[in-house]
Amino acid sequence: MNKLFIKDLDVHKKRVLVRTDYNVPFDDFENITDDSRIRATMPTINFLLDECAKVIIASHLGRPDGKANPKYSLEPVAVRLQGYLRDRAKVIMAKDCIGPQVKKQIDEMRYGDVLLLENLRFYSAEEKNDPQFAKELASLCDVFIQDAFGNCHRKHASMVGIDSFVPSAAGFLLKKEIDYFEKAVNNPMRPVVALLGGAKVSDKIKIIENLARKMDKVLIGGAMAFTFLKAQGIGIGQSLVEDGMLDVVKNLMDISRRNGTKLYLPVDFVVAEKFDNTAETKLVPFQEIPEKWIALDIGPATTMLFKEAIQDAKTIIWNGPMGAFEYDAFSRGTYAMVDTVTSSHALTIVGGGDTDMAFHKSGKTHEVSFISTGGGAFLKLLEGGELPGIASLSDKKV
Ligand code: AMP
Repeated sequence: MNKLFIKDLDVHKKRVLVRTDYNVPFDDFENITDDSRIRATMPTINFLLDECAKVIIASHLGRPDGKANPKYSLEPVAVRLQGYLRDRAKVIMAKDCIGPQVKKQIDEMRYGDVLLLENLRFYSAEEKNDPQFAKELASLCDVFIQDAFGNCHRKHASMVGIDSFVPSAAGFLLKKEIDYFEKAVNNPMRPVVALLGGAKVSDKIKIIENLARKMDKVLIGGAMAFTFLKAQGIGIGQSLVEDGMLDVVKNLMDISRRNGTKLYLPVDFVVAEKFDNTAETKLVPFQEIPEKWIALDIGPATTMLFKEAIQDAKTIIWNGPMGAFEYDAFSRGTYAMVDTVTSSHALTIVGGGDTDMAFHKSGKTHEVSFISTGGGAFLKLLEGGELPGIASLSDKKV
């Protein structure tokens, strides 16, 4: 990485502002249902506490539309954070994220304690990337650490603006995300295989294009497969398809061929009379999807084919489910691939909300090398794009 890392800066007894992505999910009773984004920032927080810094944390939560709204307060996150830090540090919840009151709290807090600022998105200036707002945030600290990987694709004030006022560097989480990505896509141990699923080719076109040039094999499942099959003149019944993408897909197949990347498509499907968990289903080979039926999952022959394709892989990247996995009747293909990937000895990197969820639901999150904490940011990297939240950090001096 050509950006400064937290260890490259002097943070000892400094006021350090850490941008995290604590945009965590809640249930109807305001309980946090998944705190992996909080836990993922502990290495950075612990490092700063060891350095006796004043740890000031900033994050967004939900979409409060630029107005203070208690529903989107970060207070439950402060409670969870205190639970993880126990007696090691006191976690103080600030009433705001900028202003004289916050400055006073920072002056008064002890070195080795944590202050969690209130939701940045209570100010519309955050999402508008207002430089004045970034300057206000920068005035709270001596050093800025970026650890909000999940938000790094957004040009918001706290993501790209603070770096111009104070020295800035990547935190442990951000570095880990980038390092794994480098190992998976830009400098992988080969053979390297990408497993791609999900609903829309149009959402993932740039990813497939980028990976078709870099991978040894690309395995396509999910509804995306039907646009590829239709482009080859194969009947797909009532399955999801993007007719406007047929030529684009033909071009993608050409790119793969020219680059010697093997493209795999499903060879059988679970089809249903209607998109419903209780609908009648049957298994059919790919050329025999009945005209009035919808294909909603990959079948066992495809699972075997994909398993064989992955067998010799040294690196695997996975984004997107293999079928409509939210419905039990169409989830088998995705979970079979979870089993396949977790039993492989390859370096395995998983990213994207749905794929992440499949691993959480199957209780196998610890059996892959790395699950990215960023949906959109991970996809942007897979496209070969640059993340503004990383680009704006201070460069390493060579
Ligand atoms: P994406 O956001 O593009 O990764 O798409 C994820 C969505 O794709 C999930 O909600 C799945 O239910 C859906 N999906 C995957 N395969 C199919 C399929 N064969 N038919 C309909 N939806 C599908």
